[in-house]
Formats: sequence, structure tokens, C-alpha cells
Amino acid sequence: MQNRRDFLKTAAFAALGSGVVINEALAAGERQGAWFNVNAKSGVTPRMKLRFFPYELKLRHVFTVATYSRSTTPDVQVELEYDGVIGYGEASMPPYLQKELGTPDSVMAFLKRVQDGIGQFDDPFRMEDILTYIDGLSEGDAAAKAAVDIALHDLVGKLLRAPWYKLWGLNKDKAPSTTFTIGIDTPDVVREKTRECADRFNILKVKLGGNNDREMIETIRSVTSLPIAVDANQGWHDRRQALDMIHWLKEQGIVMVEQPMPKERIDDIAWITQQSPLPIFADEAIQRLKDVPALKGAYTGINIKLMKCTGMREAWRMVNLARALDMKVMVGCMTETSCACSAAAQLSPAVDFADLDGNLLIANDRFRGMEVVKGKITLSDLPGIGVVINN
Ligand SMILES: [Mg+2]
Repeated sequence: MQNRRDFLKTAAFAALGSGVVINEALAAGERQGAWFNVNAKSGVTPRMKLRFFPYELKLRHVFTVATYSRSTTPDVQVELEYDGVIGYGEASMPPYLQKELGTPDSVMAFLKRVQDGIGQFDDPFRMEDILTYIDGLSEGDAAAKAAVDIALHDLVGKLLRAPWYKLWGLNKDKAPSTTFTIGIDTPDVVREKTRECADRFNILKVKLGGNNDREMIETIRSVTSLPIAVDANQGWHDRRQALDMIHWLKEQGIVMVEQPMPKERIDDIAWITQQSPLPIFADEAIQRLKDVPALKGAYTGINIKLMKCTGMREAWRMVNLARALDMKVMVGCMTETSCACSAAAQLSPAVDFADLDGNLLIANDRFRGMEVVKGKITLSDLPGIGVVINN
């Protein structure tokens, strides 16, 4: 009789037809010693078990958006275990997004409910049933739902010995370069920060919408000619001025603009988008799949973030719905470890822009996963979301 490991190997070969990748992943998994140390439990149907604990992210540098600064981000780490295999997930909750994403307390309370209920499922491959059940537990709790979703995807990918980009049929060579954000600061600091990252990235991102938009761009342009993505974070309030600014930004080598005006001003944003020489992306205006169709025509594209949209299942659906509506797609992140960033990176070969620098901003990353090599998102062949715990 086959033992479980041989069975999994055979099954994975049959499913994927790529022995090299499977063996590499298997070897990597065994080096990590964490995934496959399974003792067959004869006669017992394994159940899924959820664990979680708070994990405060320490930022490398104080993070500033418009009127707000901070040096830590609350986060909750999740582990979903099935038959000795562990999937990892996380919920990150930047304080300014508490209303949408939750607080550590609300996330832990939600995860406790999942912990109590998930034992009813004895087959992790029934992802639709499991994630529909979890989504139905409450209206909100997007980040907590994302944490479980990511852990389940990681678990299922490990059981199949395949990374999700592969299960989705994507070519990892098509993963884009990630933007790297230059924070709002004095011209001297901005010049210094730009100098530090100009060699390592192919595209920068700048938060505008304050009083010194032109100065920020001119300061960065005094150091580098790299393409720049601009995020106005709803900061412009007059559509004519916003459009004039966008025309000026186009002349400065800016390649896209995120959320130019408050999300409620959808008619003004549509007016801008119709005349804009640059693609206009929704961020604050979009949370989940159901929000996508109403944005067609008002925006060129959408920014998908796992913490907002409840995870990888819904993110992938959003990519496909946006494409069907002939819209562009970008994938973004919060300040988060390589766990959630690597999960988001799995779908990056399918997007136009990626803003996955969240893991680069923290000093206590629990994981190694996606890497940025010469500015480009680089996915490994590790299964699931492609991460290992940092030793
Ligand atoms: Mg944004």
C-alpha cells in the first residue's frame, strides 16, 4: 500500500505533469522540514485546525500619508493545519483603514468564530464551500477573511505541490516590476530616498494630494527619470485642476494616476478619465468583486488588495471580471509580511501594475517569499503562496 507521501507525489504528478517542479518544491519543503512530516492517522478523518496570534509589524521608517504618521502596523498571523500540512495567512490592519479592515480585537474575534466552525470541514479542496461559509459569518471583517483565505490557498497549493500562479495558468515571467513608494517629506529627504532606491526599482510611486505636489515630482525628477505612478489618495477636489495636474504629470513621465478625487465624486472622476492622457485607477472606490461593474467608464482600472477584497479567491475573480469589462488591473497591498505580499504576487503576472512593496517596509518579516530582483517581482516554485518561515 502506498504511504501518504508517495500517494501525494503520484497524485501531484498526475495533476500537474511536471515532475521537476514538484520535486524541487518537495525538496524545498523537506529542507524546511515543515510541510510533509505527516504520520498517517489510520481510521481518523483529519479536520482542519486554525491557529492565530497577534504580530505587530515594525516599520523600517516612519510612514507618512498626508496628515498621518506611524511606526508600527497591527497584524494577526494565521495558520491553518490539515493532516500535518500548514498553510499560512495574515491580516494586516493599518489604523487609517480600521473601518474597512477591522482592528486586532475584531479580527481575533472573527477568527475565533472560524476556529470554532472550521472543524466541520474535512476536505480543504472544497474551497468554495469553506470560503462561502466564512464570508457568510459577517458583513465586514475583510482582513480576517483574507487571512483565512490566504492560509487555505497556501494549504491547498502545498497539498497539490504547486504554486497558485501555476494553478491559475499564469506565466511567472510576465510578473511586472513593483512600484516602490517615496513618502512625503522635505525635498532633501525625498532626494536622498529617491537616490537610495533608484538603482533597485524600475518604477516609483508617489503619494500626492497635498500642497506640494509639483515640488515632490520636481524633486524626484532632479534625481531620476524612472517612470512614476501617482496616488492622489482622493486628495484633489476640483476636477478641472485635477485634469490640468494630470496633463502636467504626463509631461513629467508619470504613467498612471490612482484615486484622483474623493470616491463619492464618481461623475467628476468619469469626466477626468474620459479626457485624461493617463490611465486612472480606483483604489478607495473599490473593495470587493461586487463593486467592479459600477466603476466601468468612471475609471480605467482597479487596484485589487487582498486585505480589502477578502483574499485570493475574490481577487482572482476581480481580475477576470475587470478584464471582461475591458478594464486595467493593478494589485496592491498594505504594510504586511512576505506572507500576504507573496499571496498577492501569485496573480501579478495577470496585472498591468503591481504595488507590492509592503514587505520591504517592515523590519520583522516572518517569511521569505516573493523577491524583487532588479525591480521585478520574482516568484519561486515553492507551492501554495510560495513562502517559508524566516529562521
Ligand atoms: Mg492607493
